[in-house]
Amino acid sequence: MLEGEERLGRAALVGDLARIELECECCGTRLDAFRSPGRCACGGLFRVVFPRPESVDLRVFDRRLGTWEPLDRSGVWRYREFLPPLSAHFVITRPEGNTNLYRHPRLSSWTGCQELVVKHEGENPTGSFKDRGMTVAISHARAVGARAVACASTGNTAASVAAYAALAELGSVVFLPAGKIAAGKLGQALAYGARIVQIDGDFDAAMRLVEAASDELGLYLLNSVNPFRLEGQKTIVFELLHQLAWEPPDWIVLPGGNLGNTAAFGAALDQLQRWGVLARLPRLAVIQAEGAAPFYAAYRTGFRDFHPVQAETVATAIRIGNPVSYERAKRAIELTDGVVAVVSDTEILEAKAVVDRCGIGCEPASAAAVAGVRKLVAEGTIGADDRVVAILTGHVLKDPETILRYHTAEPVRSLANRPVTVPASLDALRGVLGDGA
Ligand SMILES: *Cc1c(COP(=O)(O)O)cnc(C)c1O
Ligand SMILES: [Zn+2]
Repeated sequence: MLEGEERLGRAALVGDLARIELECECCGTRLDAFRSPGRCACGGLFRVVFPRPESVDLRVFDRRLGTWEPLDRSGVWRYREFLPPLSAHFVITRPEGNTNLYRHPRLSSWTGCQELVVKHEGENPTGSFKDRGMTVAISHARAVGARAVACASTGNTAASVAAYAALAELGSVVFLPAGKIAAGKLGQALAYGARIVQIDGDFDAAMRLVEAASDELGLYLLNSVNPFRLEGQKTIVFELLHQLAWEPPDWIVLPGGNLGNTAAFGAALDQLQRWGVLARLPRLAVIQAEGAAPFYAAYRTGFRDFHPVQAETVATAIRIGNPVSYERAKRAIELTDGVVAVVSDTEILEAKAVVDRCGIGCEPASAAAVAGVRKLVAEGTIGADDRVVAILTGHVLKDPETILRYHTAEPVRSLANRPVTVPASLDALRGVLGDGA
């Protein structure tokens, strides 16, 4: 990656940890960035503070689309002027992002939203948006000399940590709720060589354990407590706006679990407004699963009360009862005049069947966003002609069991595609297919 650093010259990304600080979002304490950012002594979480470049010419991002330089080809590092200035020498990239926007008549008609576009974050290297945060956090881990990294995960963070740690030749330990991980995600974490510790408990229990263990064992913590993850995830918004020629949509709709992405989107929009890139902000709509909706419940009280819940939903990536980034996400909703909604598992599975049937495909948690669009249009919150971007957070192959269960369930689900078995004869085939397929 050294050539990259030379080609970039001194102005861009000849980073220097001394120019980055960690600021507690709760008590304002400032620390240097030469450490694994866990929690502040007051229990609060840190944000990353770094100097604003003198000027940013948006055309530089267009020019970078036409090169083979790894940092330019990454949909994260392409936007490096908007990110903390980590030295290119430490950057580990696959590269991430470059995720496409799709429209489909079936999606528009099912949701009732004519101008619906989906941005497919499942097209990232390990199949979820987690890679965008991971490239930044792993690069920071290398910059501070970490030898091993750790996370608790519902699956996708584990897959991403395992891959990026392997690329960086760092050890990795992932804490997973036993028996609660979709097959694709567990398979990835195993294949990429993470040490896997299965916890007899839910994600929230695994999260508490990893925070305690990382302090004790000196592991660099890669959960979204770590604000460098959120810095990377901000680039979903940067890349999306770049794709839309910096003309914001009316709404950005995304699923909410641990609420790291919601927090990152709010921080990205806040930054673009303060830096004079955007004059108007899109509204955020965060969609939770009915059985894992503590953020929705708090939103309904005007954010006066927050209570963790025991989470249960088919959408494992958002099966989280005590979201780490609650306070950050609340600020994102307030900043953007956003809304929070809930959808049932039945609605999630139907939305997933629609997205899949469009030839796009996504995992169940991602489909919550699309189910949310339909619900918010039906209740009149989102206008039928509003410009809406829904974020598909993960790849269709992450959770194959859920697909098989949906399409073969009794009683037959609304969009089920039932396989048929026939004797190997043309007559039998005619009996099944009739005149056509
Ligand atoms: C992590 C994840 C989510 C939830 O994002 P949060 O930042 O935890 O709210 C949703 N969908 C997928 C596919 C994920 O991997
Ligand atoms: Zn503090």
